[in-house]
Amino acid sequence: MDTLSHDPNCIFCKIIAGQIPSKKVYEDEGIYAFHDIHPWAPVHFLMVPKEHIPSMAQLTPDHAPLLGRMMTLAPRLALEQGCRPYPEGGFRIVINTGLDGGQEVHHLHMHVIGGPRPWRKG
Ligand code: 5GP
Ligand code: ZN
Repeated sequence: MDTLSHDPNCIFCKIIAGQIPSKKVYEDEGIYAFHDIHPWAPVHFLMVPKEHIPSMAQLTPDHAPLLGRMMTLAPRLALEQGCRPYPEGGFRIVINTGLDGGQEVHHLHMHVIGGPRPWRKG
């Protein structure tokens, strides 16, 4: 049974549950990754915990393994999605947090952005 907490009003919880369609990049028991609907660059996907955590501000030490897995998975998925290898290529990871941080969707997410420049934004 799925014991992770969800918010019925959260757009990313709905995406994870398959109630809103998305273009999947990766999925395991705790993490879901999908293409951003408004990409800034040739590669732009979002990585989210399946658990509804509103932002980085709610993290506790218990979340360290989950966040560590997201961070270490990102380089592999970035290459799979078309980012060129480091150091000529690479990628950018962005985690907007709170209103001052520019966060619009309040379900913790990591932007992974890359591919040949120019980019639309960033
Ligand atoms: P934030 O500004 O919160 O860091 O970023 C939210 C991101 O989610 C934006 O880049 C936006 O394009 C993306 N987004 C918002 N709604 C949807 C959606 O319904 N589907 C997908 N795939 N991305 C979305
Ligand atoms: Zn959510």
